[in-house]
Amino acid sequence: MPFTPFHLGPGLALKAVGGRHFSLTMFGVTQVAMDVEPLVHMLRGDSILHGITHSYAGATVIALAALSLGRPFCWMALAYWNRIASLRWLNGLRVSTRIGWIPALTGAFLGAYSHVFLDSLMHADMRPWWPFAAGNGLLDAIPVGWLHLLCLGLGVMGAMVLVAVFVWNKIAIET
Ligand SMILES: [Zn+2]
Repeated sequence: MPFTPFHLGPGLALKAVGGRHFSLTMFGVTQVAMDVEPLVHMLRGDSILHGITHSYAGATVIALAALSLGRPFCWMALAYWNRIASLRWLNGLRVSTRIGWIPALTGAFLGAYSHVFLDSLMHADMRPWWPFAAGNGLLDAIPVGWLHLLCLGLGVMGAMVLVAVFVWNKIAIET
């Protein structure tokens, strides 16, 4: 990884830029799917944690799996969220439970490829260009601390933009 939640930082920034054309829910589900393999290797005590799922080829398969299996799961999760948001003081936070193909595609593929890119900056056991090339040319391109700060910074900026847009729209509706 960066520890899986750090990946959501760039996701929030992408949501701020992409708006309704980008599904943050699909992005999040894809991050979790990407890190299932390292988790299994970790539990088994294997020396190599990042296998073929952490290559661009493997990430393509994960993104396609997230599209077919993860999309209905996202719909259920969003419906559940709406049940929570139906409480009076959260009512303004209700969302559409359907995720169209464009936001699903951008969420899943940007999620999978950004995951490989960010992880390849810090994990020596990764082979991002498998099966076409060995090695990981981006390893240590930036210090790990900076990488985490970058993810965190993108998340804070993205969240601020999303809150600002939400408040702006609410004011526009009410005036
Ligand atoms: Zn990972």
